[in-house]
Amino acid sequence: MNQERFARIQRLLAMRQPDLTVCLEQVNKPHNLAAMIRTCDAVGIHDVHAVWPEEMRMNNYASKGSHYWVRLNRHETITEAVDTLRGQGMQILATHLSPQAVDFREIDYTRPTAILFGAEKRGISQQALALADRHIIIPMVGMAQSLNVSVASALILYEAQRQRQLAGLYQSSHSRLPESEQQRLLFERGYPVLTRMCRQKQLPYPTIDAQGELQADESWWQQMQLSRSAWQAMENEHDEEESDD
Ligand code: SAM
Repeated sequence: MNQERFARIQRLLAMRQPDLTVCLEQVNKPHNLAAMIRTCDAVGIHDVHAVWPEEMRMNNYASKGSHYWVRLNRHETITEAVDTLRGQGMQILATHLSPQAVDFREIDYTRPTAILFGAEKRGISQQALALADRHIIIPMVGMAQSLNVSVASALILYEAQRQRQLAGLYQSSHSRLPESEQQRLLFERGYPVLTRMCRQKQLPYPTIDAQGELQADESWWQQMQLSRSAWQAMENEHDEEESDD
């Protein structure tokens, strides 16, 4: 991959916030899911959780490619999702107007935090509300009683981003993501053609070194049925095409 792209991916990895996430409870409109993923990527959320009994559909066009950078974790039930998030030490916030709900700006989002969002029609389930530590609400003084779910998530996530920025959580030069996850993203997003070939051939991903270069031995290239020099030529061609855009 060229150095510019490598530097860009590394900057992204350094800003990722592994201890901030959202959990979508049956949010079922593909454009809302896509818009939320895009906002998550924008504030540096790496893992998104969703309770979806069926296969998820997403409007890839609306996500503008953000779905490549954010990992979607699917859960069968809200209990399973909350157990997973609690296991990661997260405070659990449910977005819902209830008697005990507090203004979303009163929360400390620099703590490990998971925010639950409900379905477009039904909102958050009683079960999810019971599992949460706190309920939060974005104040509304108009006729409508709720915001679109993707709008609500953007407002709350940017408050979290503001607090975390002030706390210096975006200033690290090193990523807080596990090394294996950094390696996966560097390979998949830095070498998409080789990634496809690796998947087809069910081969392990090679290591990416500190310069962004592939560290693969001869047997890996042989299994890929590709020579290093042929690959180099393909990659140079790809770089030239990209610079023509
Ligand atoms: N009729 C549903 C209800 O009673 O909850 C409305 C659902 S709303 C369109 C979809 C989701 O967006 C909610 O479950 C919540 O996660 C989020 N949401 C919408 N407006 C909100 C607000 N003012 N404060 C907090 N969350 C909100």
